[in-house]
Amino acid sequence: MQNIKAVGFDLFNTLITMETIALKDAMVRLTNSLREMGLNVAHESFVQAYREAVLQFLQQTKRDGKESHNRFWISTALAQQGLSVSPEDPDMSPAVESYFSAFVQYTKLIPGTKEMLGILQERYRIGLLSNFTHPPAAKNIMSELGLTPFFEVVLISGDLGYRKPHGSVFEELIEQLGVQRNEIAFVGDDPEADVAGALRAGLQPIWTTYVRDNNVSPAPGMLGPGDDAPDPAVPRISNWQDLLTLLNASS
Ligand SMILES: [Mg+2]
Repeated sequence: MQNIKAVGFDLFNTLITMETIALKDAMVRLTNSLREMGLNVAHESFVQAYREAVLQFLQQTKRDGKESHNRFWISTALAQQGLSVSPEDPDMSPAVESYFSAFVQYTKLIPGTKEMLGILQERYRIGLLSNFTHPPAAKNIMSELGLTPFFEVVLISGDLGYRKPHGSVFEELIEQLGVQRNEIAFVGDDPEADVAGALRAGLQPIWTTYVRDNNVSPAPGMLGPGDDAPDPAVPRISNWQDLLTLLNASS
């Protein structure tokens, strides 16, 4: 790869993985939190209604690229159960926090991640661009795993209003990294959101397949549904040594 001055990373299934059980636990915590609000929520049917609401909102997001938020999904699922709570209700915040409190517990770094970032930090500006509805939770996960100090730029879709592969979020990354777009390598696992998105925005994408190659169960709902290999010209890496080799080759 030529003339790289900055490296951007996706978060889930790129730098970190999450155990499958996390979503189940998150739903238990969410139901409990709603019950503490005095709502008579039946767990099984609420989970079903929530899933349907998520699918509905994700389809909309797929059409317009706009990020959504869990409080809309919760409100829609509650309405399905005959319970009326506005997405803007102040009680919605603790419910959302309860849901995401499960995530921290079940996430971990892909082996060698900090060492790799430490090496890159000496030579490149490093940025993060994650599709995540609730930015405080993503930032908390990064902090708990010790990732925060490596990143000069941290961008979460929930703050930006749009999700990858929408061009606007890559433009923000380019702007904040302060280098030319073709001087940025972007590393991600999702062929559409990360690879195709970065390619269209004029960055140099790198497809990471660590999770696929090592049979690690992907962070639920976060692996793109389009599992086709991206553009064959895009370099593919399976571990961090591959990445270091690829980048060293350019210097
Ligand atoms: Mg990912």
